[in-house]
Amino acid sequence: MRLVLLGPPGAGKGTQAELIKEHFNIPHISTGDMLRAARAAKTPLGQQAEKYMEAGELVPDDIVVGIVAERLAQPDCQNGFLLDGFPRTVEQALALERTNTRVDAVISIEVPRDILVERLSGRRICRQCGRAWHVQFNPPPSLQRCQCGGELYQRSDDQPETVRQRLDVYEAQTSPLKDWYRQRGLLVAVDGNQPIEAVFADILSALGVSR
Ligand code: ADP
Ligand code: ADP
Ligand code: ZN
Repeated sequence: MRLVLLGPPGAGKGTQAELIKEHFNIPHISTGDMLRAARAAKTPLGQQAEKYMEAGELVPDDIVVGIVAERLAQPDCQNGFLLDGFPRTVEQALALERTNTRVDAVISIEVPRDILVERLSGRRICRQCGRAWHVQFNPPPSLQRCQCGGELYQRSDDQPETVRQRLDVYEAQTSPLKDWYRQRGLLVAVDGNQPIEAVFADILSALGVSR
């Protein structure tokens, strides 16, 4: 399975990715996670990306396309992969096509904007395993700790101002990709405003596979 997860910030891409990668046994490739790792390691690339991420803007296409191409060339991606947060512009989708990477389906997770704002403002991430929790909708075992024992933190770009900016950027720059993939017969839309397990069940049935 070669899959792309499309959807606004807070739609549940990372949450569903955990379930999808287990089910299909494919690597989960999150450009957001890769960029945050590069920032934490203070690599030149991470330092370049930082100002865009803090402002809720997209990191320039050439930077992101480079990291993804390198990752997709790894042996573990040869039998499939799950892209999360890439492509985010038509230019990135074209760049992916130019690498001759075939995609089987693009799953668009649809959630109303007011719900996205609530989800992002209550999101807490585990420093150790990267898992996303929600203080209300998907509460961690304790307010400070993940199931794995790791410490939880709030992403700096999950502040209200930056959240609004990211949602606007999604509408302007990423949502056109829905039509682009629909025209190619690859888009499957799923209602993301349901419990986590129900969204996952809809994804599997949209892909035509049973549990
Ligand atoms: P979310 O999970 O909230 O959708 P991500 O973790 O995917 O957010 O992305 C966080 C930030 O990383 C984005 O706001 C953007 O600055 C940068 N980023 C991630 N993926 C891309 C991409 N494909 N193109 C450009 N910027 C990206
Ligand atoms: P994305 O990767 O698309 O930005 P996440 O998977 O990080 O989204 O989810 C955003 C927030 O919403 C997290 O706090 C997560 O726990 C919560 N969340 C994810 N899916 C659901 C759902 N179906 N219902 C309620 N909350 C959810
Ligand atoms: Zn954890």
